[in-house]
Amino acid sequence: MSLQLLSSLTTTAVGGPAGRYIEARTEAEAVAAVRAADAAGDGLLIVAGGSNLVVADAGYPGTVLRIASTGIREHDGNGAVLLTVQAGHPWDEVVAHAVGHGLSGLEALSGIPGSTGATPVQNVGAYGADVSHTLESVRTWDRAEGTVKTFTNAELGFGYRDSILKRSTTNGSPRYVVLTVTFRLQAGTLSAPVAYAELARALGIAPGERAEAAAVRREVLRLRAGKGMVLDPADRDTFSTGSFFTNPVVPTAVAAALPDDAPIYPAGEGLVKLSAAWLIDRSGFGKGFGLPGSAGERLAGGRASLSTKHTLAITNRGGATAADILAVARAVRAGVTERFGIELHNEPLLIDCAL
Ligand SMILES: Cc1cc2nc3c(=O)[nH]c(=O)nc-3n(C[C@H](O)[C@H](O)[C@H](O)COP(=O)(O)OP(=O)(O)OC[C@H]3O[C@@H](n4cnc5c(N)ncnc54)[C@H](O)[C@@H]3O)c2cc1C
Repeated sequence: MSLQLLSSLTTTAVGGPAGRYIEARTEAEAVAAVRAADAAGDGLLIVAGGSNLVVADAGYPGTVLRIASTGIREHDGNGAVLLTVQAGHPWDEVVAHAVGHGLSGLEALSGIPGSTGATPVQNVGAYGADVSHTLESVRTWDRAEGTVKTFTNAELGFGYRDSILKRSTTNGSPRYVVLTVTFRLQAGTLSAPVAYAELARALGIAPGERAEAAAVRREVLRLRAGKGMVLDPADRDTFSTGSFFTNPVVPTAVAAALPDDAPIYPAGEGLVKLSAAWLIDRSGFGKGFGLPGSAGERLAGGRASLSTKHTLAITNRGGATAADILAVARAVRAGVTERFGIELHNEPLLIDCAL
């Protein structure tokens, strides 16, 4: 246990001190730490890769538990291969393991920062795939019942960047602490069908076709790096939580009022999904937008600004505070509401702070 700044545990590099800091290197250590915090009636923030959290500058007064358990186990799944992964295992290593071992299904999710245990929390997704497509089950510690509880895929209530795990989390404190995640993968070097048009184009195939999983991984990593969506200490555009806003899902009638070139995707009966990046850009917030009020000396855009590569990430250019990040987010959200009457919602969890 030692005094720890949340800014050193999060990819946006903002956030004040933890009241108490514990790192769990095994599942047993994680459960013991959770039980001790709960028995003491202490607030408990779970952090793994810190890539989907914005923590207040005042910090978090309770216990911050970093889940750092690692390990990947392959086992038989009746015609498929099951991969059971410890919660703290870095996610991209799992994708690399699968592709390297001739297992397909995860390749489109290459390069997403953070831990495996966090992937079911917001049903992590990219390039037309999300973890709900391959996830078999999640083993958790249920803090309310004081017992281990396993969820099947169907029981997790997955939605767009959503699951029962997220819905039962308050201020970064989950009812269910993920211990292991099991994926059902197919043996073979061909990828799952590539749904995303930009990725299919890059691979020289039609949407819905398959390619070599290794080629899909390579292209995804290349496309993501070009957008600052793979962590890189040398690239300030990656000091973010990735997309700060989710793509709004709205009734079809709302979308009908948008300009003709607005990207619109079907999202179920009577609903469509809009592009948050397009809405932000068309509301006058271009790449690199920052606020003079938060300006340090370094950049005209301020200590915090939209990524210089796309409009969806809010980035720490150096020396930004959580207040700077949130000020940019508020300005963007208000501008989109004013221009289009559509409210954007944050994707990262905001801990002890709000928009
Ligand atoms: C550059 C960049 C690109 C990104 N691209 C994508 C993308 O393409 N798609 C996407 O979906 N996301 C993306 N993200 C967001 C982020 O990487 C994912 O949400 C990731 O799964 C978060 O993992 P983490 O370990 O960093 O979670 P943390 O930020 O540490 O935690 C996030 C939430 O999960 C909870 N949590 C973490 N571990 C556990 C556990 N074991 N049990 C219970 N709760 C837990 C935390 O309490 C918190 O509520 C991106 C982020 C960055 C910085």
